[in-house]
Amino acid sequence: MSFISCNTFCNVVDFICNINTLREKRMIHTKDHKTGYLFDPWDHLGPKRRKLMEQSWAGLFREYILQELPVNKIAPYFTEGFGRPTKELYMALGVIILQQAHDITDDETLCQLAFNEQWHYALDITSVSDDATYMSLKTLWNMRKIVTDNELDSIIFNQTTDTLARVFNVDISKQRLDSVHIRSNMRSLGRIRIFAVTIRKFLVNLKRHHKGFFKTIDERFIDRYLKKDASSCFSMVKPSESAKTLESVSSDLFELVQIFKDNAGIVSMNSYKLMERVLKEQCIITDTDNGKVVTLKKAKDISSDSLQNPSDPDATYSSHKGQGYQVQIMETYTEKKKKKMNEESENESESVQENDSDAVQTCLRATHRQALNLITHVDVQTACESDANALLPAIESADERNLLPEELLADSLYGSDENCETAKELGTEVIAPTMGSQKEDTISLSDFTFSEKGKVISCPEGHAPVTTKHKKNRHIAAFKIDHCGNCPKRGNCPVKAGKKHYYLRYKDKVWRIAMRRAYEKTDEFKDKYRWRAGIEATMSEYDRKTGVKNLRVRGMEAVRFCATLKAVGINIFRATVVRRAKISPKPIQEWAYRCASRLYFYVKEQLCRHLYTLGKIFYESTFSARFSRRSVG
Ligand code: SF4
Repeated sequence: MSFISCNTFCNVVDFICNINTLREKRMIHTKDHKTGYLFDPWDHLGPKRRKLMEQSWAGLFREYILQELPVNKIAPYFTEGFGRPTKELYMALGVIILQQAHDITDDETLCQLAFNEQWHYALDITSVSDDATYMSLKTLWNMRKIVTDNELDSIIFNQTTDTLARVFNVDISKQRLDSVHIRSNMRSLGRIRIFAVTIRKFLVNLKRHHKGFFKTIDERFIDRYLKKDASSCFSMVKPSESAKTLESVSSDLFELVQIFKDNAGIVSMNSYKLMERVLKEQCIITDTDNGKVVTLKKAKDISSDSLQNPSDPDATYSSHKGQGYQVQIMETYTEKKKKKMNEESENESESVQENDSDAVQTCLRATHRQALNLITHVDVQTACESDANALLPAIESADERNLLPEELLADSLYGSDENCETAKELGTEVIAPTMGSQKEDTISLSDFTFSEKGKVISCPEGHAPVTTKHKKNRHIAAFKIDHCGNCPKRGNCPVKAGKKHYYLRYKDKVWRIAMRRAYEKTDEFKDKYRWRAGIEATMSEYDRKTGVKNLRVRGMEAVRFCATLKAVGINIFRATVVRRAKISPKPIQEWAYRCASRLYFYVKEQLCRHLYTLGKIFYESTFSARFSRRSVG
């Protein structure tokens, strides 16, 4: 018996040793964040600090986000049995999200990871060892590069949004869409400086990689573009000399392109390709008897997707908002719920106490906070892209993740007829004003009365058509000559005179737009559409909390990475507020607690006062009796 138990014990020890050896061999380090701890590692915080921690973003991140991070997508980029063990991958991905959410630099991020207990709580770091709380800059850069190169930021956004939508039971039926302009870390350059900086960049790279060819270049290029004060020279050009300077820099750029056009090694350089791009976008090259001649394009002929700064070739130009990028944001909003909550809150507050204004206000605030408005779609584009092309991808992306809205509010640029019709097929009604406006004192199609299928029922004067025809997508309605010929509105009416009748001809699309224009004037549309403006507050929050409008990075991939993870941050901050409102005591309970404590203190005070009086009486009577006995003795 003792032999068996000894043998079993040895087997168990062997098994544990094997597990430990296997663990040591694993280079991909992940931790199970779903299983709880036998002994609470955060017991040292004390109940008040623990509650504070739990109610902060750190509590929400630890409970819902950390364990859902797509570690399985990043693990394949590390080797299982070779090299040094990785940092705990959930923690590493979490650090990347928190950095963007808090808009801090790389150095600040590493300090937060090393010393900030809130970060440790959020990332489930229970040890204070260097191994657990230290990350080198190189590791941070490597992790970020893996996420950026493989577009894992979008996967992180989708997974976290889906989790929050599920946990907070978000109402996705009503959503709104808009774009915000953002800038990468680049300067705004005028035309002269675009030429000058591109040439300078090329010369610097040529000097670095092809020294032999660099020496063959004319000295005037080096004097004009490579000297210390060269860049300031081009930023101080007088307006009267700008045309002349522009011609001179464009011919320099053309000359350099021509010099190296047959050199394969130089042509493959990125800086040479940028020179070719600037030449193509800004100049016209014509063949003449004396060879090729370069002339500048007019400013209005330069495309908005032209190069804005050689340091960020992906940035483009928007005539409304300037150079940079734009982010399409779609979010849920609560309309009916809010109204309902107002009513509920008012009922609750009435039952609290009429003169207890604090309790009523707390009640209203807390109840409002319990509806989470979640960003459901983020898409980073260059600044020159039209908003009209952003609506359908947003709806399709939401549909793929079961977040399809029933109603989508957007401004007029998104609401083209094609977009509205396609969205309707997908199951979403787009509520957006139509483009353009109706001329005053004219009768448009929207002034006629139509059936549901687009057939004219009557004209603005109340006359029914004699005949109506519908073929493919075209409609014709004929009105009596007697009616139209004598009509005072004839000059402003879209009907045209024919042989037998006056005819109104229109297409399905025009009819649909006319119906939308008529609907825009109704109170129902105004009541629905007023909720669109709320997204401007979201854009403001997006910038204030995460600094999205002025990023520290350049290039489309890096900009997309930052903007997407910053949107994740906004969702986390919003969900934290809602969660805090849900787990904190209800206003009614707060009020009851306050009344009970007042009652308790009142009773205590009364008891103490009476006991003191009784004690005093007893003491005085005893003392006076002794004194009188002594004096008698
Ligand atoms: S012109 Fe003819 S169709 Fe137009 S409003 Fe007058 S009656 Fe009606």
